Amino acid sequence: MRVAVINPDYCKPKDCGITKPCLRYCPLVRTHTEAIVFEKDMKYPRIVESLCTGCGICIKKCPFNAISIVNLPEELKTDAVHRYGPGSGFVLFRLPVIKQDKVVGLIGANGSGKSTAIKILAGEIKPNLGNVKVEPSWDEIIDFFKGSELQGHFKKLSNKELKIVFKPQYITKLPQVARGVVKDLLLKVDERGIFDEIIDELNLKSILDRNINQLSGGELQRVAISAAILRDADLYMFDEPSSFLDINERISMAKSIQSLAKTGKTILIVEHDLVVCDYLSDYISIIYGVPAVYGIVSHLHGVSNGINQYLDGFIRDENVRIRDEPILFKMNPTALEGRSSDDIILSFGRIEKQLGNFKFQSDGGTIHKGEIIGIVGRNGLGKSTMIKILSGELNPDNELLINKKIKIAVKPQYIDPDYKGTVREFIKESAKKKFDTSFYKSDYLRAFDIEKILDRELNELSGGELQKVYIVKTLSEEVDLYLLDEPSAYLDSQARLTITKQIKRLIQNNKKCAMIVEHDILCVDFLSDLLIVFSGTPGMNGHASPPIDLKNGMNRFLKEVDITFRRDQNTGRPRVNKKDSEMDKKQKAMNEYYYISVHK
Ligand code: SF4
Ligand code: SF4
Repeated sequence: MRVAVINPDYCKPKDCGITKPCLRYCPLVRTHTEAIVFEKDMKYPRIVESLCTGCGICIKKCPFNAISIVNLPEELKTDAVHRYGPGSGFVLFRLPVIKQDKVVGLIGANGSGKSTAIKILAGEIKPNLGNVKVEPSWDEIIDFFKGSELQGHFKKLSNKELKIVFKPQYITKLPQVARGVVKDLLLKVDERGIFDEIIDELNLKSILDRNINQLSGGELQRVAISAAILRDADLYMFDEPSSFLDINERISMAKSIQSLAKTGKTILIVEHDLVVCDYLSDYISIIYGVPAVYGIVSHLHGVSNGINQYLDGFIRDENVRIRDEPILFKMNPTALEGRSSDDIILSFGRIEKQLGNFKFQSDGGTIHKGEIIGIVGRNGLGKSTMIKILSGELNPDNELLINKKIKIAVKPQYIDPDYKGTVREFIKESAKKKFDTSFYKSDYLRAFDIEKILDRELNELSGGELQKVYIVKTLSEEVDLYLLDEPSAYLDSQARLTITKQIKRLIQNNKKCAMIVEHDILCVDFLSDLLIVFSGTPGMNGHASPPIDLKNGMNRFLKEVDITFRRDQNTGRPRVNKKDSEMDKKQKAMNEYYYISVHK
């Protein structure tokens, strides 16, 4: 079957000429066969798939890369669950199967239909079964899902017998819709009568009397998750529940959601931190395809098998390759090459800072050319404070001894742009003259996959697109040190791994250095040469170690948060050990919290 899509975010009929290139050059339209139609009442043209030959001329002629045409296996024809219309819109094939008492994790690239799948399951979008012209009846929809667990779901949905709770992805927008003190907000939604337990599980005691608009991203996330769990529903959906949470908070969140499933509830999560997704889910569905063109939801797999197939890049039961190469993991940290004193970019002494009741101290440290220092630790220990002091935004209480004044560029944790203009204009402000060079196009724009969105308005981008744009803008600055705060937030798991590779390549090739705050343990492992480990009591006192090697750094950090990782037998990927399990105890005794000398 042929799927032809005109992306409404890219198609600009007003800007591409009076006679639209897609129509003007289509060989069928030229011979009066209407393979593309663009009638007066339509916002965008529509490709008639039954007539289009797939010659690809319109794809090349469209100046805004708005057209995609793909050939898919015929058997998918009967699997189309929803198509956006009225033009040639995105198609979603199949839905993730959900199960009572179980947590199903949905993983895959952004733009492949995860939000559409969630909205359909939540009843916000009525699936049109691929037909944009005639809306199907509920009976037809129920019949479509015959033989799957989803049939019962749609039966109840059509009879309005289902209560569904949804924790959205963008929790930083929460203060715009909910006002007041945390305690009042949570008590109001406590339909299950478990307020005290949840406050305890998600460690919310200290912020109960705070106003919602005073909370950090991590605190907002925990409040949003708690509010969802406190409600009494049949189906719970959590979109990226680990964003802005530190590793301890991620594990606590996972335990709370698992306990919820055990009370007979049905749970679907979209989670890009593969370690968390592995720990939290019972089953996995992989969503694959071409972003903004089509998405296919895989059949359900056991969690370990599903994640391994995703990493392998090959879904066996569907005989589909979703990536050219597998994602591999290292069992031991890469040895750090010798650094000479000539390579020192920044050397800073002790830092002391008192902020209200919070006391921060750093032992100082030295960073060399080409090095990436991972900054790890729980939230509330002063990571942002240290970044602000090093970037000159905040003064320390003591005299900061520093080898030389260096230039620093910062990618902040929260990227809510107050910028009116296109991606091109935004990035050009930092890239300046190099923006128009061929090396910039290949090493930055193509490498970070943002070439296609250069002419989009910044405030129209998705969270993942915005994150990539901010990373590229920051790395385009001509400075000595880059400080990146949570570069993985809002990126899907595949993008996390490719973006970390590109960051590493640029820092090494350009002989610059970077400090990166990150909570996704796989990203920390892929990115870092050395680690600065934060310890202390969140909100009370925080201490930053000097940069230490990866093996000792990971051990120190994970000992601090009391978590060990074993390795998957097939892929070597790290998996969280259950606390006090045999493996957990054994690894703690050997002081091997993350890297393991031999395969166990
Ligand atoms: Fe113009 Fe491309 Fe849209 Fe056709 S698809 S109307 S060529 S922008
Ligand atoms: Fe016309 Fe070829 Fe484009 Fe199909 S792929 S709409 S036949 S130009």
